[in-house]
Amino acid sequence: MLTTTEPTTQPPPPANASALPTQRAFADFPVQALMPFTQRPPLVFTEGCGSWLQDSQGRRYLDLVQGWAVNTLGHAPPEIARALAEQAGRLLHVGPGLHNAPAIALADWLTTLSGLERCFLASSGAEANEGAIKLARKFGRKKRGGAHEIITFRNAFHGRTLATMSASGKPGFDTMFAPQVPGFPKATLNDIGSVTELIGPGTVAVMLEPIQGEAGVIEATPDFLRALRRLCSDLGLLLIVDEVQTGIGRTGTLFAHQQAGVTPDVMTLGKGLGGGVPIAALLARDEVCCFEPGDQGGTYTGNPLVCAAGLAVLQVVTAPGFLTAMNERAAQFRDGLDALALREGGPLCSGQGLLLALELPQPGRAQRLADALRDRPGQGLLLNAVRPERLRLMPALNASDADLAMALAWLDEALRVVV
Ligand code: PMP
Repeated sequence: MLTTTEPTTQPPPPANASALPTQRAFADFPVQALMPFTQRPPLVFTEGCGSWLQDSQGRRYLDLVQGWAVNTLGHAPPEIARALAEQAGRLLHVGPGLHNAPAIALADWLTTLSGLERCFLASSGAEANEGAIKLARKFGRKKRGGAHEIITFRNAFHGRTLATMSASGKPGFDTMFAPQVPGFPKATLNDIGSVTELIGPGTVAVMLEPIQGEAGVIEATPDFLRALRRLCSDLGLLLIVDEVQTGIGRTGTLFAHQQAGVTPDVMTLGKGLGGGVPIAALLARDEVCCFEPGDQGGTYTGNPLVCAAGLAVLQVVTAPGFLTAMNERAAQFRDGLDALALREGGPLCSGQGLLLALELPQPGRAQRLADALRDRPGQGLLLNAVRPERLRLMPALNASDADLAMALAWLDEALRVVV
């Protein structure tokens, strides 16, 4: 188990430390030009290296949020920087009407890795999920007599476009921009009866996250995933798996659904695929892929620059030993978190690999802890209070033992003082 006493190792300096900007206070930044859409701390981040971030005043933070489970290889990884620089000097963009080599290579690799034969490249998780919804509706029209309903789950999160908000089960999303896009009846995760109850002649698909990330890292059980797979196969429904948050090694296998031994008909990827560069993907079995010219598109689909980043990430994550080593570090980290959870009288942490959450039964304590850790004396620690009673931890997949031990030590210290 990792030690929870403060390690003596110091974080490495940012790779480009010699080019640090002049120190600037938050008040020096004209943030009012940004539309307000969320609460943010009064800090501006200017540098990053691996697990470490630095703000405009030179203060350093150990980052276990990593851009919301996006930075697979941490901040400013040299593999992505090199790939982007090389591709930017060669070809940035050709548009959806012309082929480019990185897009072909990335689609080919993703289809090989997933066993799903067709790939559409997009720029965000929501866009990939919109594509999945459109594909299912088209499949329903062509092959299932016009069926168009997609059963989704309470507390699910699939994105912030109108259709993906409607597919989501986040409380409040149903009324926020009413009327919703129709056709997304909601079942309860891990309750197969709640799914069968909703199935009717209008049903074409079931769509879920293997782990509901935004809901607080709530896992679909392997048994539930297998039961869903059987149900969908028996009734000719599509099983759509949203792996935007769980995919690309985050949960310890390349895709989370592999842990249940099921293969979906459709899968979406985002976040970790670009390691910080906006790229997403929609993958589908050949028989399901019924898009015809004109059905789907987007100016930036398969943009060579972002595809080069996706290729660089896959090269690292699929290298022999990468996920094995990550899983060893993740297991130690989880043991440390579980020890803290037991001491606090809460349940053991939820999640898999390096997508984990700690439940703290006192509502509001998670946010107070995240704030206190960010603002702790010396260096800060960034964690995400995903729910009032849950802290989410999403370190870089290559976070070192020393960094993970340091995060545990600081969390241990904060749990003793923040009530
Ligand atoms: N699906 C899941 C499971 C997600 O976690 C998210 C983002 N949190 C999305 C879709 C939406 O992705 P994006 O923000 O890139 O549109």
